[in-house]
Amino acid sequence: MDNITSTFREKKLKLTPQRIAVYKYLLSTKEHPSAETIYKALHEDYPTMSLATIYKTLKTLVEVNLIQEINVGEGNFRYDGNAIPHPHIQCLNCGKVDDIEGISFSNLNETVKDYTDYEVLSNKIYFYGLCCNCKEKA
Ligand SMILES: [Zn+2]
Ligand SMILES: [Zn+2]
Repeated sequence: MDNITSTFREKKLKLTPQRIAVYKYLLSTKEHPSAETIYKALHEDYPTMSLATIYKTLKTLVEVNLIQEINVGEGNFRYDGNAIPHPHIQCLNCGKVDDIEGISFSNLNETVKDYTDYEVLSNKIYFYGLCCNCKEKA
């Protein structure tokens, strides 16, 4: 909690209960939830918080780099409380998204420079496959 307070202060963000609730929820999960999932999860404790507020809050948290928005190609975004770039993998069967830990592709920005005139600033890497559960059932 203290950590969140100082982080928000550092980013010059007002500590509203909604922002704290959304950020805390994202820090507590590795599920990469969508805005709808966050809305449903927080609804019981914050019945007056609308989905629109959740979207606005997420946008603010992304803007100050506290969380990251990920798009595995589903037509809506998922959110990650870990703002440090890391690769993701999605199960093609059940749709869950996991982190791939212990590997970084930041060197790819350097590698790709030989193939483009662009100034390369970032990349996002998504892998697709079958999770343990789905692999067993298949
Ligand atoms: Zn699966
Ligand atoms: Zn992640």
